[in-house]
Amino acid sequence: MAAETDVMEKVVALTKRRGFVFPTAEIYGGMSGCYDYGPVGAELRRLIRDDWWRTMVTAREDVVGLESSILMPARVWEVSGHVAGFHDPLVDCKKCKGRFRADTLADARCPERPSKRPGECGGELTEPRQFNMMFKTVAGPVQEEGATVYLRPETAQGIFVNFKNVLESTRVRVPFGIAQIGKAFRNEIVVRQFVFRLRELEQMECEFFCVPGTEDAWFEHWKAYRLRWWTELGVRPSRLRLRPHDKEELAHYARGCVDVEYRFPFGWKEVEGIASRTDFDLKAHQTGSGKGLAYLDETTKQWVVPFVVEPSAGVDRCFLTVLVDAYEEETKANGETRVVLHLHPKLAPTQVGVYPLVKKDGMPERARAIHARLATVLRAAYDEQATVGKRYARMDEVGTPFGVTVDSQTLVDGTVTVRDRDTMAQERVHEDALLGHLAERIRTWKRADDGATA
Ligand code: ATP
Repeated sequence: MAAETDVMEKVVALTKRRGFVFPTAEIYGGMSGCYDYGPVGAELRRLIRDDWWRTMVTAREDVVGLESSILMPARVWEVSGHVAGFHDPLVDCKKCKGRFRADTLADARCPERPSKRPGECGGELTEPRQFNMMFKTVAGPVQEEGATVYLRPETAQGIFVNFKNVLESTRVRVPFGIAQIGKAFRNEIVVRQFVFRLRELEQMECEFFCVPGTEDAWFEHWKAYRLRWWTELGVRPSRLRLRPHDKEELAHYARGCVDVEYRFPFGWKEVEGIASRTDFDLKAHQTGSGKGLAYLDETTKQWVVPFVVEPSAGVDRCFLTVLVDAYEEETKANGETRVVLHLHPKLAPTQVGVYPLVKKDGMPERARAIHARLATVLRAAYDEQATVGKRYARMDEVGTPFGVTVDSQTLVDGTVTVRDRDTMAQERVHEDALLGHLAERIRTWKRADDGATA
């Protein structure tokens, strides 16, 4: 476990060094629960979102997209149950003033004596009290109750309140889903484990509306469909599992819930939740708003409030999963260590680096021309700084799967060296065949260990 914790520290250091993640407002000392994503990290997140959107919306005939507002009237959150129930139990240590979630004390550490759990250090803990995790603010200049708004703690409610709009303005018919990606805000009591638990987070959620009675079949469909997405991102199947919730964990209205969990260095943790939510949300908003949220069933000619199955994943947790899973420290044949991210090429912020061996003899011009051609199709970068060895090391650390080097032989016969990030093997390919060669290797890429090992 010590070595695994070490991996986490190394991943955090790498993300800072290479421009994936920076502490928010670092020059002012940072802000807990918030992180900024640097140039490479922003690109990785965009690719994660795009892949989710492609799988959930573009590739399906039965799901459409939505972008709802982050700010919503307080009424929405009263009706959804969040004002009364979006709580975590909070306890304080009377001695060190540390704050902890009462339900995760077993995983917590005393800030003053990290070898002890809270309460084991001689400090007395207060009785748990409920702490609402929604950020509350006021719209407009007058601080009156009517203007209270909440930053959404999940994107789902924005979907429910638009159910009728989507049904009436598009050709979708039940069963269908509405998907959205967007920021959500949770005033988490304890923020730890880097971007795993944030106060400003991003979610990728789909509410799938189905005919009552068919929800169990759709629940099975979504469990399989979503787990496959995670493995198709290149994440090792041996580190992924589906964990069904116990009866006590289930919300009172839920028929079932399963978490997709990833085995992080700090244990198995939820990266996505898939919940069978019955008609609870739509019925609550129907009552709360006074607007009918049923659809007309063409066969029975009855008005029906659909049941809902919800797959809900976090962009930030997916980002961390992909990085931790891809990270490897290897000892090369010459005894040197190299750090490499075995990212799936579809998620690599840069897919190919193009390098002139030296900055003379026309090599930079030739390399720039090759780069320009590749960049029409691939995420390509041109780099002529430092030695080729250093450029390869950088490429490995940001997970660039292919490096193309222009050398003196290129000037003679038009071939370049293609270096593979994963195996470090090099082969010569003619520049005219390069684009096709790389496209094929990206298409057929498989992780070297094929996910078999932990
Ligand atoms: P946890 O039990 O870890 O607090 P949760 O059950 O409250 O998570 P959900 O409400 O099911 O999480 O949210 C769906 C997804 O949103 C989670 O699977 C996770 O990927 C992401 N998510 C939730 N809370 C956070 C957070 N504080 N920081 C980052 N991602 C989060």
